[in-house]
Amino acid sequence: RGTLYIVATPIGNLADVTERARAVLNSVDLICCEDTRHSQRLMEHLGCKTPLISLHEHNEREKSSLIVGKLNAGDSIALVSDAGTPLISDPGYVLVNQVVEAGLPVVPVPGVSAVISALSVAGLPTDRWYFEGFLPSKTGARVKRMAQLANNPETLVFYESSHRIVASLEDMVSEFGADRPVCVARELTKTFETTLRGTLEQVLQQVQADRNQQKGEFVVVLGGAKALEQGEEDERAFRLAAELKAVM
Ligand code: SAM
Repeated sequence: RGTLYIVATPIGNLADVTERARAVLNSVDLICCEDTRHSQRLMEHLGCKTPLISLHEHNEREKSSLIVGKLNAGDSIALVSDAGTPLISDPGYVLVNQVVEAGLPVVPVPGVSAVISALSVAGLPTDRWYFEGFLPSKTGARVKRMAQLANNPETLVFYESSHRIVASLEDMVSEFGADRPVCVARELTKTFETTLRGTLEQVLQQVQADRNQQKGEFVVVLGGAKALEQGEEDERAFRLAAELKAVM
């Protein structure tokens, strides 16, 4: 029986690939990737000639059965995504689930992930954090989701694209409050890497003021809801009671 390796790849800087990733990608019989043309660049960098097949969100179910068959026949297979760690806001869950169900071995080959990279430099608490990944793209659904997260005391981590970074930060100001501390980590490990830190209002202003700050890939790391001081808690309970009374 073969093994399925879940291999992390760089999020921009090819020098971040691990020695073990290189060895595993060179030794397996087949590599599943999201986009063969995209992954080909990394394989060229690694001098890797292993055949590539595509596995993406639209064909993952059918490809997974095929891969389970190949593993059962003794082939070893690696899964990579376009960048970072597979399954982290990327395909792979269906495959890993099927491979586990089939009783076959799944082995991680860890490396970079944008969420961990951003948390490590944000300057916000990392003892507990909540990974939201991508927020809904439509404003209504996004604002609703933010409202559900507004009282979460843990640091919150979001993935965001260049199309929506400004709109998302604007919604965050209204839903989480202008004073929340935030770090917007852009283009990590790449030439134009930037980390903006401050309150939501300050960082939104910096991003709005400079079109270059709206380009590329983003991780937004947001401070959690501050634990309420006793005085604030009393005041809030009092206000809630008054509001309840008013509607009854
Ligand atoms: N699997 C990847 C990982 O482990 O981080 C994430 C893949 S997800 C489809 C892509 C998103 O990750 C981007 O929209 C961005 O939010 C974040 N991301 C990926 N690379 C990044 C980078 N170099 N700098 C900042 N964010 C990045």
